[in-house]
Amino acid sequence: MIEKEATYYKNLDDDKAQCFLCPHNCIIKNGKSGICRVRTNNEGRLIADTFGQVSSMAFDPIEKKPLYHFFPGSEIFSVGSVGCNLHCSFCQNCEISQTSVADFPYLKQASFESIVQQAQKRSGNIGIAFTYNEPTVWFEFMLDIAKQAKLTGLKTAMISNGFINLEPLQQLLPYIDAFNIDLKGFTEKFYENYTSSHLEPVKETLNLIAKSGKHLEITNLLIPILNDNLSDFSDMLDWIRDELGRDVPLHLSRYFPRHKLTIDATSPELMLEYYEYACGKLNFVYLGNLHGRQGSDTYCPGCKNTIITRSGYRTEISGLENNGQCCFCGKQVLPEKNMKL
Ligand code: SF4
Ligand code: SF4
Repeated sequence: MIEKEATYYKNLDDDKAQCFLCPHNCIIKNGKSGICRVRTNNEGRLIADTFGQVSSMAFDPIEKKPLYHFFPGSEIFSVGSVGCNLHCSFCQNCEISQTSVADFPYLKQASFESIVQQAQKRSGNIGIAFTYNEPTVWFEFMLDIAKQAKLTGLKTAMISNGFINLEPLQQLLPYIDAFNIDLKGFTEKFYENYTSSHLEPVKETLNLIAKSGKHLEITNLLIPILNDNLSDFSDMLDWIRDELGRDVPLHLSRYFPRHKLTIDATSPELMLEYYEYACGKLNFVYLGNLHGRQGSDTYCPGCKNTIITRSGYRTEISGLENNGQCCFCGKQVLPEKNMKL
């Protein structure tokens, strides 16, 4: 196994190390790991345990990430490892996110070159998505893959909780084309109580990505009782509209009981109520994890015609020109760079 030294840390007294990759800024004793379980102190040297370790690889529809405004209808090679810097009580991927290299026997070793080669070989594949577990804690390997991918003309996407320090994020930005960032709630209390993290750094991440001009979409998991407060939701929508722009797509995802949370699944009625409310404030709102087609299609914000139709993961671009303009009224709906390789 490759022993890869982590970036973004410093040595402290008594062989301790402090990691600066994410806002937890863990101080880690010799022989112990950080909150994410995958960065370990080996006699004062911080090791990125999951470097070159892959838990899952698959060619997925890009809509599954979810990314709806980035090469709609295409396929993207999706890769992930284990570990996460958050401990969400409702985690939908807990088998790979809440574990360590030692506790997960199914990891496979891979080089960044071999991953990029696999992505390149598949015809129609647009690039590589870092997903499944939290890619932030895979930082060094993700960066190596992304740099190589950019050299070969592939697109890259990061599906993340957004809890990363600004310096590593700035280092990543030139090599990542598209982001889907979770905005799990809009109060510090929610973030502290149910994710073991904080809201403010996630807002800073979203702001930095939006200002960078990289493609950005947001996912919000709607959980009954825990974050189904319409006033907080309204504040979140106002913040997205005013700080990031009303064209940033918002995916409202339906919660199902998972991991430590046993609250009943979000009702379809509540999903629809929040969807309709959000449509009044943002131009592109989608529903996820819900049967039926409502909240799947894309409408032109100019003339309101349907321009992209989705059914499951089948996508039909019916009303968009190749340059991203609406066929009906000519409005530029998707940036041209998100349509053509
Ligand atoms: S990446 Fe892991 S070790 Fe580093 S600060 Fe975050 S949780 Fe701690
Ligand atoms: S951030 Fe995502 S992967 Fe990590 S614990 Fe939360 S839901 Fe799970």
